[in-house]
Amino acid sequence: MKMPKRCGNCGSTDLKRLSAEETASFPWKDYPAVNLKLSGDIVKCGSCGELLLNASQARGLDDKIVDTIVQQIQTFITMILHREKCEQKIIAAHLGVSPEYLSEIKSGRKIPKFQTFNFLKTMALDATSFKVSAPAYQSGKQAV
Ligand SMILES: [Zn+2]
Repeated sequence: MKMPKRCGNCGSTDLKRLSAEETASFPWKDYPAVNLKLSGDIVKCGSCGELLLNASQARGLDDKIVDTIVQQIQTFITMILHREKCEQKIIAAHLGVSPEYLSEIKSGRKIPKFQTFNFLKTMALDATSFKVSAPAYQSGKQAV
């Protein structure tokens, strides 16, 4: 890729080409919870963090974001299933979505709202969040 002269977002000339290690996985600036996995020659603005992509990279970015989100959703669900030793429909109940919808976002047929993604991530990383999100717990029926 030809090195751009200026950042199209902020006009800074502080641009750098990302190394292969950096493009392998890095937080996407718009949604830092999403670790992007990009390949190829990526130039980043050192001032505002904007990625300066050529047309074909920009077209590929949406697909990469979707792939990354789907991979992370699968990881989060697996983490919860393993830790809680429960069925996937229990995770759906904690999330407040239908089991069918959870299957759809797990397979990538649907992309969840960012709120749903973040909640799933929180439950995967924090067992207490999973526990207190139980529908029975919320309605006060759970024996403590
Ligand atoms: Zn910039």
